[in-house]
Parts: sequence; structure tokens; C-alpha cells
Amino acid sequence: MYDVAIIGAGPAGASAGLFTAKAGKKTILFDSGKSITAKAWVENHYGVDAIEGPKLLEEGQKQAQKFGAEIVKQEVTKVSEENGALYEIETAEGKYHAEHVVFATGMSVKAAQDLGLEIIDGKEPRVAKIIKVDETGHTSLPKVWAAGTVAGVSVHTIITSGDGAKVAINIISQLNGKRYVDHDVMKK
Ligand SMILES: Cc1cc2nc3c(=O)[nH]c(=O)nc-3n(C[C@H](O)[C@H](O)[C@H](O)COP(=O)(O)OP(=O)(O)OC[C@H]3O[C@@H](n4cnc5c(N)ncnc54)[C@H](O)[C@@H]3O)c2cc1C
Repeated sequence: MYDVAIIGAGPAGASAGLFTAKAGKKTILFDSGKSITAKAWVENHYGVDAIEGPKLLEEGQKQAQKFGAEIVKQEVTKVSEENGALYEIETAEGKYHAEHVVFATGMSVKAAQDLGLEIIDGKEPRVAKIIKVDETGHTSLPKVWAAGTVAGVSVHTIITSGDGAKVAINIISQLNGKRYVDHDVMKK
């Protein structure tokens, strides 16, 4: 049983997983290896001079794993509600259970649609459909969230990864029952 299951380990998903794992939440990410970021050459990500998309993806996933997040390189085929308290996440090779679910699936709304989430037209260029969310990233179902491209934000790594972090902090705050802050201080 996981506190948080994240579907998609691109910039949005891996950034969310980094925060939830670093906050001590039991975190699992699933990824089917179809990130659009894999084609990118990124020179506009604040603080990073220039980086190839595949390298950014790899670094992001390594950061989440450093704090204990598990990454399963499989496609999620189905997400279903279990007795109103938990969600079951299915892949071709297994079933997993989590209290909170984050869709960070980029251009794909299929698994979200199958779960019955409200899907609306995208507003960003080349983004056809997105998951309807409120300003916190919460969807039409309890404890189900969306982040990044699939949540309708501007399709840029600094924004999608930022959105993943925003949603993670909102989930951690809900789990902790008070607003969460993750600040490390320089060691003397
Ligand atoms: C050619 C190109 C150039 C770009 N150049 C730049 C640039 O210079 N600067 C910039 O800021 N941005 C650039 N971008 C955009 C950047 O890649 C996106 O902004 C972005 O970061 C998308 O992040 P995301 O996490 O929302 O989606 P993605 O990176 O697409 O990640 C979504 C992940 O979800 C996974 N997934 C989907 N459904 C499932 C499922 N059912 N089960 C398991 N996994 C699933 C996918 O496999 C994928 O890995 C470029 C994009 C392209 C295509």
C-alpha cells in the first residue's frame, strides 16, 4: 500500500515523486517510456544551462529514487476505486494500491478517462485533451490529482516540473493535516 501513486515519470511526475518521497511518503511511479521530453533540447530551464531531454528525464527520475521512490517501467492499463478509500493501479504485470493518485501522463488522457475523470479540451498548442483540475491540481474524484501537460499547464519543463511539485506539496499537506514546506539549509 502506497501513500502516493504517480502515473508518468516525465518532468511533472518525477518532480512530484521527488517531493512526496523526500517528505517520507511511500511513493511509486509508473512510466511507459513515451515522454515527449525525450525529443527535447532544453536551454530554457531555469538554473540549467542546457540539457538533452533524455538526460533531464534520467536525472529527474534519479532524484526521486534517491529519496526512496520506486519506479515501475510499465504502462498503467487501469485505475479503479477500491471501497472509496484506496485506488487500485493495474499494469500488465501487477496490481498496486495507493491512497492518492497523480496523473502526470503528458499528452495521454486514456487511463484518466477510463477512471471517469472529467476530460476537457486542451488550451495549449498541440494539446488536444486535458484532465479538468482546480487550482490545487485536484480532479473530479477524491484524492485523484493531475499535473503537467495533462493538467493543462504550458508545455515547458520548468512549468510542468513546477506543477508536479505544487501538486505534491498539496498532497503532502493533506496527508500531514498542515501546510508543508521542504527547505534544506546550506551546511556550514
Ligand atoms: C520536440 C520537442 C522539443 C521541446 N523542447 C522544449 C524546450 O526546449 N524547453 C521546454 O521547456 N520544453 C520543451 N519541450 C516540452 C517538454 O518536453 C514538455 O514541456 C514537458 O516537460 C512535458 O512534461 P510532462 O511530464 O507533462 O509530460 P511527458 O514528459 O510527456 O511525460 C509523461 C509521461 O507519462 C507516461 N505515461 C503516459 N500514460 C501512461 C500510462 N498509462 N502508464 C504509464 N506511463 C504513462 C509517458 O510514457 C511519459 O513518460 C519540447 C517538447 C518537444 C516534443
